[in-house]
Amino acid sequence: MIVGPQASGKGTQAEKLVEKYHLAYVQMGDILRKLMAGESVLAVQVKDFVNKGILVPDEIIIKVINEYLGRVGELEGVLFDGFPRTLSQAQYFEEFLKEKGKQIDLIVYITLPREVTLERLSNRRTCEKCAATYNLVTKPPKNKGFCDNCGGRLIIRGDETPQAINTRLDYFEKNTKPMIDFYRQKEMVEEIDGNRPIEIIFEDIVEKLKKRGLVNA
Ligand code: AMP
Repeated sequence: MIVGPQASGKGTQAEKLVEKYHLAYVQMGDILRKLMAGESVLAVQVKDFVNKGILVPDEIIIKVINEYLGRVGELEGVLFDGFPRTLSQAQYFEEFLKEKGKQIDLIVYITLPREVTLERLSNRRTCEKCAATYNLVTKPPKNKGFCDNCGGRLIIRGDETPQAINTRLDYFEKNTKPMIDFYRQKEMVEEIDGNRPIEIIFEDIVEKLKKRGLVNA
């Protein structure tokens, strides 16, 4: 599982891990955005929380993840990003995995100071079509304003205005940190300094995976 505050680069690192180790990728934010594109009652409820930059209530998340995991079937070699995000989601997930005889191998926690998060997000753009993310400074698109993958228009996400970002960071402190502490007590967390170049961070993560005997190369 990978966790970190907004703009910590966790999405980028997740993509690299998925590619190198051929993992299945479960990204909660993306699942929710796809759900929000529909017109169900659930979509309307979820939209309200996400656009304000606040966490969607646990009951709703558990409903969504249950439905999603029910369809995924296999739980080998999966990278979870954005779930669990609170202590109660983690407790629920532990029970869920236990019933299936599975477990989480590692929590990769990418850290970043708040000022750096705010600065990075002012440069962040997201493809309105496929949700790929870019940074105008560290990861610019080849064609200004357009997505490398699908050619979609690049926009600033509704939940990435400075006010929404600050709210999200407060929520991270209040809700996600206790979840990280819960796993830390079980010695399942590797903390990674996210305020470094992408490749260096990735090497660091790979080293930690090797050290724990989770991968060979
Ligand atoms: P992300 O793209 O991971 O930053 O997620 C975008 C937004 O989706 C968050 O700001 C939350 O509003 C919502 N969200 C994503 N994952 C969760 C979760 N596990 N629990 C509650 N809300 C979530």
